[in-house]
Amino acid sequence: MKGKKQALSRLMYVSGLWVFLNYLSRGNLAVFNYHRIRPDSLEFRTAFDDAVFGPNRSEFKRQLIWLKRNTHLVTEAELLEVLYEGKAMPRNAVLITFDDGYRDNFDLAFPLLKELNIPAIFFIPTLLIDERQLGWWDTIAYLVKKSKKSSIRFRGRNFDIESHPREAIRFFQEIMKSEKAGSTECMLEELSQVCEVEMPGIEEINSELMTWDNLRELASHGMALGTHTHSHRVLSTLEPNEQKEEMIKSKRILEETIGKKVNSIAYPVGNYAHIDLHTHKVAKECGFRLGFSFNTGINRWEKITPLDIRRTSAPNTLHRLVATYFFPKIFT
Ligand SMILES: [Zn+2]
Repeated sequence: MKGKKQALSRLMYVSGLWVFLNYLSRGNLAVFNYHRIRPDSLEFRTAFDDAVFGPNRSEFKRQLIWLKRNTHLVTEAELLEVLYEGKAMPRNAVLITFDDGYRDNFDLAFPLLKELNIPAIFFIPTLLIDERQLGWWDTIAYLVKKSKKSSIRFRGRNFDIESHPREAIRFFQEIMKSEKAGSTECMLEELSQVCEVEMPGIEEINSELMTWDNLRELASHGMALGTHTHSHRVLSTLEPNEQKEEMIKSKRILEETIGKKVNSIAYPVGNYAHIDLHTHKVAKECGFRLGFSFNTGINRWEKITPLDIRRTSAPNTLHRLVATYFFPKIFT
C-alpha cells in the first residue's frame, strides 16, 4: 500500500495532473505542519524521537519553492482578516506552521523562509523554552534508545527494547496522550529508573530547542508566534481550569517576550481525542482567535470554524507533498 501511494503521488506530480486539481482546489485553505527539519547529511542520527522529523533541508526547500509558485502562501494576519473582517478569500491558500520550538526550525527552516520570503506560524510550548526541558515524547525516546538493557518491565508489562524500541516508545507516548495528567506525573522518572538512563543533560537539551532570542528574531522578521500551551500536556487529560491556566500562561509569556499580541494556538498532539468539549470555549475565553488541530484534512474557506482549523502533517518529499495537498486523507 505504501509503495502504491508513493508511485501514485509520483505519477500525479510528473504527469502534471496537479495543474487541473489545483484549479479545482481554489476555495481551499491547506495548513501544513512541520515539527523538525533534518540536516541533509545521510549520517544524521538523533538521540531523540525520530517520528517528529520531516523532510531534510533540501527537500524542504523544494517544497517551499513549489508552494510559492503554485499556491497563495498566507500570513496569520491575512487569515485573521479573511475570517474576521470579510477580506476576500485567497485562492489556493496554504499556511505553513511549525510546532514545538525546535532549534532546527531556526537553524535550517528560518533561513529558507527568509530567503524565499515565505511566512509561517511557529507554535511554542513556553515551559520547554523557558525551563529548558524537552517534551515528554523526546524524553521517552531518549531513555529507551539510550538504555543498555535488552528488555524492561514497566507497570506489569515486559518490553523488548533492544529488538523493538519503536513499539515501546510508541506505547509510552500513548500513555502520556491518553491517561489523566495526575497519573502520569512521575512516569518519566519511573522510566528513567527502569531503563537505567539519566535524564538528558542541559547541553543536549540546548542543542535541540530554540532560545527566547531565536524566537524574538523570528518575530522581528515577520514570522508569527502562536502558543502550543505552556507544558504541552494533552488538553483532554487536564481539567478545564488547568487547560485555561496552560493557555493563559503561555499566551502571557509569549506576548511579553515578543511584545506583540498572540492570536493563535495549536492544541498539543491535537486530534479530537486530545481535546475535550471545553477546549474551544476555553481558547476563546483566553482571547485566541485562531485554533489549529491536527485533524488531517482540507479547510473549505466558507466552512472554517476559526478555533478548529485542520492541519496536515507535511510529508518528506515534494511529490508526496503535492499529493497530500490535494488528498490529505489518502496520502498522509
Ligand atoms: Zn507539539
